[in-house]
Amino acid sequence: MPNLKKCNAKIRATKVGSGTELIGRVSPRDTLSFGSVSDPTVFLDRDGVINRYPGDRLYVTSLKKFRFLPRAKKAIALLSKAGFRIFVASNQAGVGKGTYSQRTLDAITAKMLKDIEQAGGEITKVYYCTHRKELGCSCRKPKPGLLKKAGREFKVNLKKTYFLGDTMRDVLTAHAVGAKSILILCGKEKLSNQRNWEAKPDFVFKDLLAAAKFLTR
Ligand SMILES: [Mg+2]
Ligand SMILES: [Zn+2]
Repeated sequence: MPNLKKCNAKIRATKVGSGTELIGRVSPRDTLSFGSVSDPTVFLDRDGVINRYPGDRLYVTSLKKFRFLPRAKKAIALLSKAGFRIFVASNQAGVGKGTYSQRTLDAITAKMLKDIEQAGGEITKVYYCTHRKELGCSCRKPKPGLLKKAGREFKVNLKKTYFLGDTMRDVLTAHAVGAKSILILCGKEKLSNQRNWEAKPDFVFKDLLAAAKFLTR
């Protein structure tokens, strides 16, 4: 069990414990243990967590532009081998805007899943919201529609899950269903912008593998 120090106000940009690489714990909302140890579940955002963040207001518009982040496949394999059920929940409004097609998105998803599988990982299901913001749908994060859908389809108690994402939007999505939030710092959000964060993540890690090591410790 790593030595986790509570930190209510500010994230301590230091390593906590040995080998956990935990950067910070902002709000000690709950205990660290899963309620349902037998069926632990995590939700992953895609861009900036699994693959390289394409940049603000930019999208991964082609198969070629989908690049795995270093250590991401390894992280997913680690979670899978530890018995985690893994879902992906991602906004892809570029489809709704016509920036790239549903077919391209499907090809990217197929390639992603194949490569993850080859590395020893398994994603149970990928959920996308492809709607434009203006439509006001219920699945565009920070609304929790994608998580709720997975919850219904796979009988997941969302309160006992973790949502790992690289943006405040992901943190808000987690909190909307009572899930614990893990902010990953290899995409959009930076620790230096912490004073502007509109929500407090439960945990902050430098990348997906650091978070996966923590969850499977
Ligand atoms: Mg993202
Ligand atoms: Zn939607």
